[in-house]
Amino acid sequence: MSLTPRDEKTGRYLPIIFPEELPFWQAAKKHKLVLQKCRSCERVWYPVGPTCPFCLSNDFAWTEMSGRGVVHNFVVYHKPWIPYYKDKVPYVLAQVEIEEGVRLTTNIWGLPPSEVKIGLEVEAVWEDVTDEVSLIQFQPRKG
Ligand SMILES: [Zn+2]
Repeated sequence: MSLTPRDEKTGRYLPIIFPEELPFWQAAKKHKLVLQKCRSCERVWYPVGPTCPFCLSNDFAWTEMSGRGVVHNFVVYHKPWIPYYKDKVPYVLAQVEIEEGVRLTTNIWGLPPSEVKIGLEVEAVWEDVTDEVSLIQFQPRKG
């Protein structure tokens, strides 16, 4: 038995939303990327945690990010590991380094996987998955 929640309609895996991550997911529903920013050293971190990993301060603010970044690394999936992905392969799983310096694991939309390159400039786009979950994805930057 898996403890990972799934969307009943599609069988797609859904994130487990922990209470300390609620501001992140609530902003995502509004198509905004917010992350924790330290009030002492002004750095941003992710994954979510109770203290700044750089200076150990617990004084932080949920802060809206630019939504812009570059592809840091990526792989192309050709095999659909669950039926949901059957008509979606090949697709790109990437780590995008956003301007504020953290890397997010995500998908790259809007161009064929063969055209995705390390360093590609991308911007956030949002996928509404369920009533509770919107996921950040990235596409080539338009402006
Ligand atoms: Zn800090």
